[in-house]
Amino acid sequence: MLIPPANGARAPVIVIDPGHDLRANPATEPIGPGSVTRKVKDGGGTRGVVSGLTEAQLNLRVALRLLTLLEEAGIRVVMTRTKTAGTSIGNIARARIANDAGAALFLRIHAEGSTNRSVRGTHTLYPALRCDWTDDIYGESKRAARIVQSELVRALRFPDRGLQERSDFTGFNWADVPVILVELGFMTNEVEDRLLSTATYQRRAALGLCRGALRFLARSPVACG
Ligand SMILES: [Zn+2]
Repeated sequence: MLIPPANGARAPVIVIDPGHDLRANPATEPIGPGSVTRKVKDGGGTRGVVSGLTEAQLNLRVALRLLTLLEEAGIRVVMTRTKTAGTSIGNIARARIANDAGAALFLRIHAEGSTNRSVRGTHTLYPALRCDWTDDIYGESKRAARIVQSELVRALRFPDRGLQERSDFTGFNWADVPVILVELGFMTNEVEDRLLSTATYQRRAALGLCRGALRFLARSPVACG
C-alpha cells in the first residue's frame, strides 16, 4: 500500500462566487434537484443609494481582492466570474462550478438592499437542512457561516445581524460542497454604501473573508496578511 507523503496533498480549492452580473437573468430554474418549484435565475441585485455602484460591481471588487489574498496564502481559487460584462449565468450553473471544482468551500459574495434605508449590518446565510438536498453539507456549511460571519464583522465593524438558514436558495440546494452566502452590508443604507464603495472597506471585507475561510480550513488566518 502506498502512503502519500503528508505534504503531498494538493492545496484545497475555494470557489468564489461574486453575486449577479451586468444583466439579470429572468429565465427560471428548479430551486433544487427534481423540484417543481422554479425561481428566476437572477433578479439582478441591488445598487448603492449614494455611490451608484451596482451590487454586481461591488461583489466583484471584493472577490478579486479575496482571490489575491487566498492565492498568496496557498489556496487554489476558482472564480464563477471575473468580469461584470454579461447576463448572469444563474444559480445552478454557479453551484455546478463549485461542485465540479470539488470546493472545500463555495463562498458567495453579495450585498443587501432594503426598502427601509435605516436597515444595516452584516449577515451570513447557509442552507437549511433538507433530506437529499443539503443533509450532506448542512453541518459544515453552518460551521463555515459561523466562522466567516465573525471574521467579517470583526473586519468591517458593521452591526452583526447574525446567521440565517435558507431553504429557498437555488445555489444552496444544488451545491454538493459546503456553501455560504455573505451579505457584506446594505447598499440601501447611506453609511454602509459610502463605506463599502471605498477601497479601504473592500480590502477589509476581503481580509475578513480570507481569515474566515482559512480558519474554516483549519489553517492559520495570519497567512491573509
Ligand atoms: Zn445579491
